[in-house]
Amino acid sequence: MLAEIKGLNEECGVFGVWGHQDAAQLTYYGLHALQHRGQEGTGIVVSDGKTLKGVKGEGLVTEIFTADRMAELTGSAAIGHVRYATAGGGGYENVQPLLFHSQSGSLALAHNGNLINANSLKHQLEAQGSIFQTSSDSEVLAHLIRRSGFAHKNDQVKNALSMLKGAYAYLIMTENELMVALDPQGLRPLSLACLGDAYIVASETCAFDVIGAEYIRDIQPGELLIINDSGLKSEQFAVNSTKAMCMMEYVYFSRPDSNILGVNVHTARKNMGKRLAVEAPIDADVVTGVPDSSISAAIGYAEATGIPYEMGLIKNKYVGRTFIQPTQALREQGVKMKLSAVRGVVEGKRVVMVDDSIVRGTTSRRIVNLLKEAGATEVHVVISSPPIKNPCFYGIDTATKEELIASDKSVEEICKIIGADSLTFLSTEGMVAALGQTEGSNGFCLGCFTGNYPTEIYPDTLQYYYQRG
Ligand code: SF4
Repeated sequence: MLAEIKGLNEECGVFGVWGHQDAAQLTYYGLHALQHRGQEGTGIVVSDGKTLKGVKGEGLVTEIFTADRMAELTGSAAIGHVRYATAGGGGYENVQPLLFHSQSGSLALAHNGNLINANSLKHQLEAQGSIFQTSSDSEVLAHLIRRSGFAHKNDQVKNALSMLKGAYAYLIMTENELMVALDPQGLRPLSLACLGDAYIVASETCAFDVIGAEYIRDIQPGELLIINDSGLKSEQFAVNSTKAMCMMEYVYFSRPDSNILGVNVHTARKNMGKRLAVEAPIDADVVTGVPDSSISAAIGYAEATGIPYEMGLIKNKYVGRTFIQPTQALREQGVKMKLSAVRGVVEGKRVVMVDDSIVRGTTSRRIVNLLKEAGATEVHVVISSPPIKNPCFYGIDTATKEELIASDKSVEEICKIIGADSLTFLSTEGMVAALGQTEGSNGFCLGCFTGNYPTEIYPDTLQYYYQRG
């Protein structure tokens, strides 16, 4: 499904380089590979060992980093960010990396995730005299580092990180160090690679492939990795860290050519489609997937059932970004512009339409309608994840609980609303098993499906997620 039209959006991707003369250029390519994680703003900060310098703006990687601007970014270390704004809102000031200068040196931050105790920390910090430059939750870390009473930078950072709750993959760069931190649940993906003598970190491994970097390992929950000219040092800032990787990274967000915790995303999605074939066998003529993220699951479903996979829906890649259109009605028109049903494939056919998830239901209804208008005699919708009944507090914009169609409607009711001939969701057990996990759901966050979240939830966060919009 297309991120912008679905109402289910990732909040950012990060990329960093240490020890390469073309650090900014490598970061450009890395961010380009991570563009699906956020299209509203992007930035790069470089270090030449003496000063930090940055370029950022609202727009796509290819729009912001012109040749002139790239020429300014000289240095052998860099961090970069692509942003999708939810908590804290949009605006130039919220585009990352955030850059801070002080008497004791400079600091740049790039964050993927969402802090669930940001509001209470901000209140405390403001009461102590901090003045925030942005409305983003990410900035809290810089103030906590600055106010830490420890003498050494690494201790300041570890102390500050230990106060944060929620999801965070942080890149923190000073003139002479790159620090990489992952929250104690490891909710967001973050991996390490090398390119010759240089170290590279990225939200997804697909960003390593485009620059020819060699994957080393994933950053561990509660780990602070410190990279400088002496090499790598790993420290643990959180005890009792337990892995709870976001399941939606596999279902929908990450690129199919990325590997998360050793599992290839395309393969995981294909396995979800195969499990669906067992849980929802349907007598049909063709299987089609909603581009792009549902294609892998559709291939798996077709392979397991023997029903031919066909390209029944195509995406027009050259339509402008839908997020600039503010209303639901206009978003729905965006669906029509972006997706087309292939009449020659679906006319007179019983179609299985595979999609990765249903959020509000409006997009699914529109796509079922497209297929029927193109002559499909039956449209059976199969979803390669369980119903999303709960909001996400960790940086995925899933909409509020009230907006989620599955929060208060049965599968039969949803089926009727979207106009399908049948509707089946993958079971939670099936989804987890598709990742090769045989010991239950340990290791994954399933909060938006089950309502069981891997961290405590703060009252101010609850209020935000249930009332906004
Ligand atoms: S609640 Fe859902 S979207 Fe949010 S981190 Fe957990 S699995 Fe991912």
